[in-house]
Amino acid sequence: MKRKLAALVCACLLLTGCGTSQAAPEQTPLQKTLFAMDTTMDLQVYSDDKTLLEDAAALVEELESHLSTTRVGSDIYTLNHSGSATLSPDTAQVMGRALEMCRDTDHALDISIYPVVRAWGFTTGSYQVPSRETLDQLLPMVDADRIDFDPATRSAAIPEGKEVDLGAVGKGYTGDRLSTLLRDRGVTSALLNLGGNVQAVGTKPDGSPWRIAVQDPLNADGFLGVLTIADEAAITSGGYERYFEDEAGNVYWHIIDPATGCPAHSGLLSVTVVGPEGLRCDALSTSLFVMGAEKAEAYWRAHQDFQMILLTEDFQLLLTEGLADRFTLPENSPYTPMVLSAEAQN
Ligand code: AMP
Ligand code: MG
Repeated sequence: MKRKLAALVCACLLLTGCGTSQAAPEQTPLQKTLFAMDTTMDLQVYSDDKTLLEDAAALVEELESHLSTTRVGSDIYTLNHSGSATLSPDTAQVMGRALEMCRDTDHALDISIYPVVRAWGFTTGSYQVPSRETLDQLLPMVDADRIDFDPATRSAAIPEGKEVDLGAVGKGYTGDRLSTLLRDRGVTSALLNLGGNVQAVGTKPDGSPWRIAVQDPLNADGFLGVLTIADEAAITSGGYERYFEDEAGNVYWHIIDPATGCPAHSGLLSVTVVGPEGLRCDALSTSLFVMGAEKAEAYWRAHQDFQMILLTEDFQLLLTEGLADRFTLPENSPYTPMVLSAEAQN
């Protein structure tokens, strides 16, 4: 695969709030930028309570300390290094939901993919193309069904050689927890950008929906369109977010097909999922990217509790019907959108 991707963009530019300038002067939001979970996060909260931002940052730090694969002593670090762990309530929640999503996506999402992700160097940035032999040795380790997890006791255990990575769902869950924290403290208007994973609490202060730009994977300076969201998450997965190129110009990205152990080449360049639960949107954006357009469309028809935007390698822009009136392309867009109907095809 020799497609030239847009220059790597900072994740914080992937999806970014826009159109907030109409707010009245007295409605200036509290704002905080932090680096956590390997990405830049930007929190914009309409409130007078300045302690909210500190509490939100502390929550992100706490979640990272439990969910991280690399922090010594985190639940996942302990599980991966000693084969068993009693998980904190948050990690247990993520683990339970993620395992459900692994089964429900027929393992397009597989949270035991970590040894393969490491073999490609995505965990350290020392990128390399592993041999087929190496991948064939690692692939038997990739099977989330062999993670033993008891939600009642929050105990988890994995067989020797297996390792868990909640990276495909952790930021979505963090968005959910932050949104709940803010709502519980009376906030009705906030926009949380967790490295391109956007979560909206309520609407803009004037009652209109938030407007967010969805990155064009083929043009770092451009955007696919502007999406309106209210009280929901909009989460994007794309090969352009993290990738490397070999000397021959082949591009290898960080979303791996658990069936092959290689970067997923399903014909998609990016997937944006919009829905009420960040964790589910996050799990879906990764797994629908692995599935490809046809299977993603079938999955959407079967569930219909989310909406999605797919950009294919042959420049088709597919939108589910719930977004038809909520997604506006720029005037000079090279893409012609096609709306997917829930009833089309059998
Ligand atoms: P996301 O950015 O949410 O699409 O998640 C991508 C991250 O999840 C990668 O950087 C890997 O750490 C991990 N990952 C890659 N492929 C998969 C997969 N098929 N299932 C679960 N996690 C994955
Ligand atoms: Mg994801």
